[in-house]
Amino acid sequence: MVAENFPIAATAPTLRTAEGMVPVRQKGEARDGGNRAGLLVQLRFRTGLCSEEYVKQKAWLSASLERCPLHPEGGCGFARHTPYARVEPPGALIARWYCPAGQTTFSLLPDCLASRLSSTLAEVEQVAAKVESSDEAVEAIAAKLRPDIGQQGAVRWVRRRMMAAAVALLAAKGLRPELLAGARPTIESFRAALGVEHVLPALRELVDSQLPALPAPVGFRPREHPDESGVRRRQQGTGADPP
Ligand SMILES: [Zn+2]
Repeated sequence: MVAENFPIAATAPTLRTAEGMVPVRQKGEARDGGNRAGLLVQLRFRTGLCSEEYVKQKAWLSASLERCPLHPEGGCGFARHTPYARVEPPGALIARWYCPAGQTTFSLLPDCLASRLSSTLAEVEQVAAKVESSDEAVEAIAAKLRPDIGQQGAVRWVRRRMMAAAVALLAAKGLRPELLAGARPTIESFRAALGVEHVLPALRELVDSQLPALPAPVGFRPREHPDESGVRRRQQGTGADPP
């Protein structure tokens, strides 16, 4: 059941043409659980649900992608594919579709979840806000936020989210200067400028048409060198962040 005040409408408004798409090539068993060769494209699942509601309502079941973004005229064999499981939040699945003719998998990421990081967008924002408002060193903050992992992994976990939030804020400032030109690139300043409690989920809507070209965690631009980042991640051992 979906509450009426949280309407769900999965759409792919940003990917109407092949030219606008920025897919990433999958290799064998992908970290997102994909196991088909071909391209992987993330699309926006437009929803006001927070991550807890998304899991509780199994909202991925109501996500829909009516036509193949590559072949809106049909005839390509486009069909719903098995969902994949996110590491965070536990129990969250991501709806997927597959186009055999284009060898492309489309996944619908809900607005509450970060792309290419295992966190919710709210968690990424919370970490960034904590760092910017605290006098403590990142190491001390990391030890408090992630006491469950080693110091090195915790610092990396925090830094990755700080950087991701900073990239999102700067990109949004450039894309929506009429709203954000006067704002400093901080969570606090953006909250005030936009009048919202959670900035990063709001940016999905604000920069909607630019999402394919925008980097994670708000946008869906693929990593520059997915293979290299995979190697680096394995070498680091802990703190893997699947898409
Ligand atoms: Zn197709």
